[in-house]
This record gives sequence, C-alpha cells and structure tokens, in this order.
Amino acid sequence: MKIYNTLTKTKEEFVPIEEGKVRMYVCGPTVYNYIHIGNARPMIIFDTARRYMEYKGYDVNFVSNFTDVDDKIIAKAAAEGVSASEISEKFIAECKKDMEALNVKPATVHPLATKEIGGMVEMIETLIQKGFAYAAEDGTVYFRTRKFPEYGKLSKKNLDELEAGKRIAVEEQKEDPLDFVLWKPKKDGEPYWESPWCQGRPGWHIECSVMAKKYLGDEIDIHAGGEDLIFPHHENEIAQSEAANGKPFARYWMHNGFLNIDNRKMSKSLGNFFTVRQVGEEYDLQVLRFFMLSAHYRSPLNFSRELMEASKNGLERIVNGADRLRGLCESGLSREVSQEEKKLLDQAEEYVKKFEAAMDDDFNTADAVAAIFELVKLINSNTSSEQSRDFLSGLLDTLTKLCDIMGIKTERQEETLDARIEKLIAQRQEARKERDFAKADQIRDQLLQQGILLEDTREGVKWKRI
Ligand code: AMP
Ligand code: ZN
Repeated sequence: MKIYNTLTKTKEEFVPIEEGKVRMYVCGPTVYNYIHIGNARPMIIFDTARRYMEYKGYDVNFVSNFTDVDDKIIAKAAAEGVSASEISEKFIAECKKDMEALNVKPATVHPLATKEIGGMVEMIETLIQKGFAYAAEDGTVYFRTRKFPEYGKLSKKNLDELEAGKRIAVEEQKEDPLDFVLWKPKKDGEPYWESPWCQGRPGWHIECSVMAKKYLGDEIDIHAGGEDLIFPHHENEIAQSEAANGKPFARYWMHNGFLNIDNRKMSKSLGNFFTVRQVGEEYDLQVLRFFMLSAHYRSPLNFSRELMEASKNGLERIVNGADRLRGLCESGLSREVSQEEKKLLDQAEEYVKKFEAAMDDDFNTADAVAAIFELVKLINSNTSSEQSRDFLSGLLDTLTKLCDIMGIKTERQEETLDARIEKLIAQRQEARKERDFAKADQIRDQLLQQGILLEDTREGVKWKRI
C-alpha cells in the first residue's frame, strides 16, 4: 500500500512502526458551529482510509480531537451570553450526529482539549527545560522556533523567508518574530487554567502534540488533516513533539485538498459555506459521502448541484444493483454454482482486485468507485432468477464488502428520508408560528421539488410522495 507523504512529497510504501498496527491521528474541528461540508471532507476521506486499512487486517488506533477552547468559541459564547463549554458541548454533540449520518465511524478516542490541559502544561515545561521555549513577563510562553533546526521541513518553508514576511514590532516580548505561542494569559471573562506561568489557556498547536503522545505514543504512523493545516499547525506540531520527545513524530503526513464553492475556497470565515445539516435537508448524506469519494482526496473539489445530482444517480445505481440481487436471492435456485456462474464470480474478483489496486495507490477512491460501477454493470447484465442462490449471494457479498469499505450503505435509506421530511415539516410549523410565511412557503416548495406534497388537514400536516 502506497501513501503520498507531504513530508517527502512522494508516494511511499506504507510500513507501520509496529507490525499489523496503525497509529493514526486526524486533526478534528473547532466546535463553535455546525460542521460545514469542508470539515466533512477530511472526516469522510480519513474514515475511508481507516476502513480500508482495517479491511487489509490492520488494527487501527484512530485518534481525532475536538478543539473545545478557542477564540471563536469564546466569542460565540459571549455573544449568546452562555459559557464556552455550553457552546462546545452542544456542537460536539451535533458534530457526532452529522458524523453518524455520514457513516463516519467514531474514533477510537475523541480527546477534548479542555480535558488535556495537564499534559499540555507538562509538555511546555519539558520544552522550557530543554531550552526550546521561554516565558515572557506577562506569562505568555513561546516556542523558540530557531532552536529547532528542522523547522519548515513539512511545509518546505525557509526560516529567513518566513522572517522577512513577518511584521516585527507586533509582539515585542518575543525573542524572534518566528516564535509561536504555547501558553497565553487569560483575558477578562475567558475560561482559564492554572499554570506555572500565569492563569491562562494553551495555544492551539500544543493540544495535538500532547493528545497524539498520550493516546498513540511519541512516534506515530499517520498524521492527517486538511492542507490548510500544513502550515503553521502541523509544522508547529512537529517542532513541539520532536523537540520535547527527542524522536521523529509522524512517519506519513496526509493532507486532503480543499472543498471549494464556485471554485473559491469555502470557509467559515469567508461566510460562503454550507453546513452538513443544510445539505442533509436536500440530500441523503450518503450522497454527500459518495460525492467526496468521487474525486482524489488530494485534488481540490468543487461543490455543485450538478456533481451532487451525478453522485445521487451513481449511488442509486449501486443501491439498485444491491436491491436487484437481494430480490433475486429470494427466488434463486438452490443448486450448485455452474461453470458459467463461476466465471462471472471470477470476473467479479477481478473488479475486487482493481478496487484494491486503486486503494493501494494512495487511496484512489475515484478509481475504486469506478471498479464498483463495473461490478454493478456485471450484476445488471448477467443475473436472473434462474441462477444459483449461492452465486447471487456471492455477488451481493462482494458488492456489499466493497461498499462497506467506502462507508456506503447498500440498503435503501427510506427511514432517514422520512425523518428528514418530518424535520422540515417541523421547521415549517415553527416558521408559521413565528409568522415567517416566506420561510414556510420556501420549505413547502423545497419539499415539492423533491416530490413531496404537503397537505394541511385538521389533524395536522400530512405528506405524500407525488
Ligand atoms: P477547523 O475546524 O477549521 O480546524 O477544520 C477542521 C478540519 O477541516 C481541518 O482538517 C481542516 O483542514 C478541514 N477543512 C476546513 N475547511 C475545509 C475545506 N473547505 N475543504 C477541506 N477541508 C477543510
Ligand atoms: Zn492538530
């Protein structure tokens, strides 16, 4: 199995530190809002990579954090007059619901930054002792970037060029403009923790170094996240971990490309984003998952209605193929598999090999999906109720196995569709109660476009498919 390693900029054969085991860390979201579909890309991609490695027999220890203390969380809490933890707890719970709907498996551990402060203080102390960090007068602790000679090795940045790009006078207490924050003093009304330097809270980067060490060890196999994290986040993680532990940190660095909208970067700060929830009102979220898998994870991917519709149709073809086999299995003959059927099963095995070859080549999900489509074509043109039940169920098992690796469910998702309709109806009722008739009408029209007609009756709102 080959993985493209950002550190070496090449595809490398994957060799785990410990045979048969994978220690994998994926940077998770900062929880101050519903996750957007850009955040869903790394979740889906690295979940699929995990599923494939598990299929290959690896025992994958998969750690993914939630950043639950941060400026944006604090600002949102202040705006809503609630505590930061109320905001983060709410959005962690909502994020987990979205993950479930996207069929993203829960991590082995989902550590929370606020529960790991002790470990962070300890690592910062080690860094100070080793001369890699220093506390300024006000209690801010900085990492001494130039003390770590390999700084820049992941992002291929040169320290002098970086320095030239920095505005110097901003933080005068820094020894060097390149130094970054490990610990900072609290401001009024902010959550804080005790530390040897001041009451305060950690900088963002230190949490991942500490959680990876605690749950996976000093050296890990794979560290992953979106490409925007390469610099400074992952570069800083490497500096902190390798300086503190005296060992190489992660062997393989994987980064997904960005999800764009109208070919522009999609992000919360630019305001041009869709949440997973919003997309879920219109599509089964399996479609969103399938859409993400249709491109190579390192390529940029543009979110558009056309591509979502194409993904919906593609997924439908696969589910229809599985449905067809399930139906045929019931009426199939209880006899041995014939020579001809055996040949077809061999052909199906060829598609499995193609699928594996694609996934072994840096998780090329686009080609892996193409192999699934070839299998579906074989199913559609070569199966009937006159065939052996063992043959039919053999094909069904193969199709289901490949779909499972992609996290694609082959059963129809009627229930979730119904649940989604009910949810929209409830939102429409809510809008009417607030006399927001424009919104109520918009929800009714949206449902109508999806073939759902609402009827207001004396017993309440009823709906039917048209
Ligand atoms: P954040 O909450 O911004 O820290 O992001 C959580 C994860 O989502 C990180 O791995 C980011 O790199 C990733 N991410 C954020 N926006 C996008 C996007 N538009 N496309 C792909 N990945 C993204
Ligand atoms: Zn991280």
